[in-house]
Amino acid sequence: SGSASASTIKQVKLERESELRIEVGSETPLKLRLLNGSAEIFGSELAPEIWLTFPPRLKFAVFTWYGATIEMDGATETDYMADETPMVSYVNVHAVLEGRRNRAKTSSPNDSEASQGPRVIVVGPTDSGKSTLSRMLLSWAAKQGWKPTFVDLDIGQGSITVPGSIAATPIEMPIDPVEGIPLEMPLVYYYGHTTPSNNVDLYKALVNELAQMLETQFAHNAESRAAGMVINTMGWIEGTGYELLLHAIDIFKANVVLVLGQEKLFSMLKAVAKSKPNVDVVKLQKSGGVVSRNAKFRQKARAYRIREYFYGLANDLSPHSNIANFSDLLVYRIGGGPQAPRSALPIGADPVANPLRVTPVNIDQDLLHTVLAVSYAKEPDQILSSNVAGFVYITDIDIQRKKITYLAPSAGDLPSKYLIMGTLTWLET
Ligand code: ADP
Repeated sequence: SGSASASTIKQVKLERESELRIEVGSETPLKLRLLNGSAEIFGSELAPEIWLTFPPRLKFAVFTWYGATIEMDGATETDYMADETPMVSYVNVHAVLEGRRNRAKTSSPNDSEASQGPRVIVVGPTDSGKSTLSRMLLSWAAKQGWKPTFVDLDIGQGSITVPGSIAATPIEMPIDPVEGIPLEMPLVYYYGHTTPSNNVDLYKALVNELAQMLETQFAHNAESRAAGMVINTMGWIEGTGYELLLHAIDIFKANVVLVLGQEKLFSMLKAVAKSKPNVDVVKLQKSGGVVSRNAKFRQKARAYRIREYFYGLANDLSPHSNIANFSDLLVYRIGGGPQAPRSALPIGADPVANPLRVTPVNIDQDLLHTVLAVSYAKEPDQILSSNVAGFVYITDIDIQRKKITYLAPSAGDLPSKYLIMGTLTWLET
C-alpha cells in the first residue's frame, strides 16, 4: 500500500478486471471521475466525466470489467491497483440469482413457493466484506430493473440507519457510491445497543418482527417477492452469534447462504443445510481490498453514522432543536431495567429481569446525550412489536424547569410520544 500522497490531479489507467483501491485521507474529501472506459464502485456504474466527491476516510474500490481511466483530485491515505479480485465469482452469484428472479417472475403468483425470488443471506466474520458484497448484489439487481429488499441485521455497522437498529428497505436504483443507501422510509426496529449480547432475546424478538412485517408486505407485492432479498448480518459468528445466524436463516427463510472468508463457518452451515434441501450454502473468497477496522474505528464510524442521520453526509440537512415538557414525552426501555436487589427477593428467586419487559424510564440527567427512537406504538404494550419513525438526540435536561431539549430531523411534533431508550449515546462534535 502507498503512503499519503500530495493533493494533485492524477490519472490512473486500469486494465480489464482490475480495481483501484482507495482510502480517502482523514482531513479532506477526494474528487474522482471516470475519464474513459467503464467502471463501477461496489456494483454501481460511474457516469462518464462527472466528478464525484468522497468524504474523508471512506474506503472503496473502483472496479472495471473492460478497462478504464480514472482521474483523482485530492489526498488519499492509500491508493493502489489490484488485478486479483473475487469479482468474477461475485458476478457469477448474481447471474444465478438473476435466473431465480426470472423464474419467480414467470411463475403463477398464486404459487407462493415458486413465485418467491432468492432470499440471500451474507455471513462471515467482521471485515470480510459482507456489506460490500450485499451492496454489489443489490446494485447489480437494481440495474436490471429489480427492486430487491435490503435487510440489514448489523446493529454495529449497519448501512440503513443509525447503529443499534435493524432495518429493511427496497433498493430501486443502484446504490449511490457516495450517499449510500437512501434513507427514505426504511422499515426500522430499534434495539438500542450496538452488541446483541446486551439483550439477545430482544434482538431475536425484533428480527422476528421485521421478518414478519416483510412477509406481510411480500404477500401483497409479487414484484418485490420475485426480486427477493439480500440480508446482511453481523460479524459475530461464534457461540450465540452463530445461533443468531441460524435463527436469521430460518426466520427469513433464506435459500442462499453466502459465506465469506471462513472455512469453519462454511462447513458448519453446510452441515446444517443437509437437512434443508432448498438451502444452498456457497463459499466465497474475501476480497484482498477489504479493510480491517479496529474497535476504535468502529466506534468512530458509529458516531459519524449518527451525525449523518441528523446533519447529512455533507452537512446538507438541518435538524431542529426542540423543547418539550417532561410530561410530553414517555420514555421506555426494554429489558435490563432496574433489577430488584437479591436481598429484596424471596429466597431462591433469581434477580433476572424479563428481557422483553417494557418499563417506563424516569426523565433525569441519565438521558443526556442518548439517542432515542420514536416508536410508532399507540400504547406502551405495542412498543416491543412496533417499528420506529426515526430518532431524537437529547441535548439538555433541565430538572428544575422540567424541560427536555432534543435534536430531531425536523421541526414540529414527533409522530408519537413514545420513545425507546437503550444504551446508545453520542457526543456531538
Ligand atoms: P463487513 O461488512 O464484513 O464488516 P465491509 O464490507 O464493510 O465488511 O468492508 C470493510 C471495509 O472495507 C469497508 O470500509 C469497505 O468499504 C472496504 N472495502 C471492501 N471491499 C473493498 C475493496 N475491494 N477495496 C477497498 N476497500 C474495500
